Amino acid sequence: MNDYCLVCDSHLKRELTWTNLLFPSALPPICATCEAKLQPITGERCRICSRSLATLNKKFIKEDLCMDCVRWEQDPHWANCLKQNLSIYHYNEFLKEVIALFKFRGDYILAEIFAQTLAKELDKLSFDFIVAIPLSEERLQERGFNQAEALARMAGQKTKDYLKRIHTEKQSKKSRGERLKQKQIFQFQGNHEEIKGKNIALIDDIYTTGTTLRQAAKVLKKEGAKRIYSLTLARG
Ligand SMILES: [Zn+2]
Ligand SMILES: [Zn+2]
Repeated sequence: MNDYCLVCDSHLKRELTWTNLLFPSALPPICATCEAKLQPITGERCRICSRSLATLNKKFIKEDLCMDCVRWEQDPHWANCLKQNLSIYHYNEFLKEVIALFKFRGDYILAEIFAQTLAKELDKLSFDFIVAIPLSEERLQERGFNQAEALARMAGQKTKDYLKRIHTEKQSKKSRGERLKQKQIFQFQGNHEEIKGKNIALIDDIYTTGTTLRQAAKVLKKEGAKRIYSLTLARG
C-alpha cells in the first residue's frame, strides 16, 4: 500500500482512532491538502455537457442548456449525437497539473486518484459498453499508455476498442467551425452487430469543446449504437 500522496509525495497519516487501529482501512491515494484543491462540479449544470450553470452569465444559458450545447443541438449533423457528458471536476490549475503529470510522467498509477469517484459516476449512467477515446498509434508509442483507458481500468471497468484514431490529435490552429468540417478522426472497428441498439459510455480525461467526444459518438451511432454518454474527469 502506498503511504505517500500520489501527487505531492507527502506522507499520508492515518488518524489515530480505535476504529483505525482495530480495522485499518486503506489510505486515500492523495493527501487532504491535494484533495482540497480538487473542485467537484456541484449545483445546476448543463443537461448535456455538465458545465456549471451557476457561474455562467445568464445570456449564455437557455433553459437547462449552455449556449454551446444549444448550438450543437441546432446543427442537424450533431443534434442528439451525444446524449450526456458527465464531468466530475472543474478543470482548474491543480487538476491541469495532475492530468499533465498523469499523461507525461506516463504514470498509470495516477489513475488511482480518481478510481473511486469515476466508479461512482459510472454507476449513474446506463450503458452496455465502455469505449475509451483512443490515441493514435504514434502517440501511444510515445506515451506508452492511453490515459482514458487507464481511468476506465482503475475504475474497475473493461473497455471495448470499437474506435480507432485515424487522424492526429495535435490541435490545429483552425477555428472550431473549420475543425468540425475536417474529415472524421475516428473509424469504427469490430463487429457492428455487437453495438446495434446498445448504449455506450465514452471515457476521456477532459471535455473541452466537446468536438472529440461528438466525433466519436457520431461514428458509433452510425454503426447502430442507441445512446452515447460520456464520462470525463474535467469540464474545461
Ligand atoms: Zn498531496
Ligand atoms: Zn452544455
